[in-house]
Amino acid sequence: MDLNAIRSDFPLFKTGIIYLDNAATSLTPVQVVEELKDYYLNCRANIHRGLHKLSARASERYEQAKEAVAKHINAKPGEIVFTKNSTESINLAANSIRYRQGDIIITSDIEHHSNFLPWKVQERNGAKVVMKSFRELDESAAPAAGAKVMALTQVSNVLGEPYDLEKIGKNKGDALFLIDGAQSAPHMKIDVKRLNCDFFAFSGHKMLGPTGIGVLYIREEVMELLEPVYLGGGTISGLDERFNPIYSKGYKKFEAGTPNIAGALGLATACGYMQKIGMENIHRHETAIAAYMRKLIDEINGNGNIEYYSKSGLIFSFNVKGLEPHDVSAMLDTMGNICTRSGHHCAIPLMRKLGLNGCVRASPYIYNTTEEIDKFVETLGEISKLG
Ligand code: PMP
Repeated sequence: MDLNAIRSDFPLFKTGIIYLDNAATSLTPVQVVEELKDYYLNCRANIHRGLHKLSARASERYEQAKEAVAKHINAKPGEIVFTKNSTESINLAANSIRYRQGDIIITSDIEHHSNFLPWKVQERNGAKVVMKSFRELDESAAPAAGAKVMALTQVSNVLGEPYDLEKIGKNKGDALFLIDGAQSAPHMKIDVKRLNCDFFAFSGHKMLGPTGIGVLYIREEVMELLEPVYLGGGTISGLDERFNPIYSKGYKKFEAGTPNIAGALGLATACGYMQKIGMENIHRHETAIAAYMRKLIDEINGNGNIEYYSKSGLIFSFNVKGLEPHDVSAMLDTMGNICTRSGHHCAIPLMRKLGLNGCVRASPYIYNTTEEIDKFVETLGEISKLG
C-alpha cells in the first residue's frame, strides 16, 4: 500500500489534521468528489423515466453503479437496494417482514441502536426481541433456532472486533438473517453468499463514499416474501382494475421515487477505489495500526490511567480515569488537532454491559500513519497525567 499516494487523494490532510473518527464517517477522496461533480455537470437527468439521451446516460451509469456495488460484496445487481444509510436499510428490512404473534427476533447485546430499535419496535406487531451475547451465539449449534429473524453486527462500532458470522450464518436454519455491515464493509472483504445472509446493510459515508447513500442487499428469493414500506413512483409495474398496486419485480419494489443517483455513482467509485488498493491490504494495514496503537499505549500507561475495552479490535475505545470522555475528546482536539468521538456511541446496551456511561473512540482507517498514532499516544499520555 502506497500510503503517501493514498493520502494525496485527501486534501484535508494538508491542514495537518489527524482524523481518527472514521467509525463515525470517513473522509472522501478526490476521485469520489470528481464523480459527483461529473454527474451534476455533465449527466444531470433523472433515471428510468426519460427517453432522451441524458436520461439514458444517467440510467446506464446508475445501473453500472449497482453492478459495481453488487460485485464488491459478491451479490447480483438486482439484489442491491440503494437507501440513504445503514439505518434506513435496517428499518426497511425490519418493516418489510410480515410478523405473526410470538415471532422471535434474535439480536445481540452489543448492537448499535440502528440495529436494535427497528427490531424492538416490532414488538408492537406481536414479535419479541431476544438479546444474546456473541459468545452464546458462537457456541450454539443452532443460534437462530425457532426464530423468525436474527439481526447481528459483523463488527461492533465500539470494540471493532469482527465476529465469525460465516459460522453463525451457516447454522441459521430457517431464520431470516440480517447483517449490520456498517463497520465491516469499510474494512474487509464482504461476501454475502459465504455469510449466508438474507440482508446486508451498509453506509457509503463510512467507506470513502458520499453521505446520503447506503445499501440494503436482499437475497433474491427473499424479495418476493417482503411487503415494501415506501410506495410511489418506480415501485409498481401497474395498477389492477381497482387501482391496487402490482409491485415491480426485484429491487425496484423497494426504491420508491427518485434515488440518490449521484450518491450511487460516488459509492461505486469508492468501491472501485478500495478494490484498487485491495480489501486484504486495507485490512492488514488497519490491523497493524491498531496493534501499534495498543503497544504504544501500554508503554506509556504505567499509572494504569488509560482503560480500554478491546484487546485487538480495529477500533480503540477507552477512558482516562478521573476525566469525562467528552473532556478527553475535546482536549485531543485542542492539544493535538486530533479528531475522536465520545459518548455512548448509540450502543447503550453495550455501555451497560461494560458498566460505562460513555467512552472515547479512536478509529483509524486506510490513510492513517504510524506518525499520527505516535502523536495521538503522546497527546493522550499528557492528558492521562491530568486524570
Ligand atoms: N450500525 C453500526 C454498527 C454503526 O456503527 C452505525 C453508525 N455509527 C450504524 C449502524 C448506522 O449507520 P448510519 O448512521 O450510516 O445509518
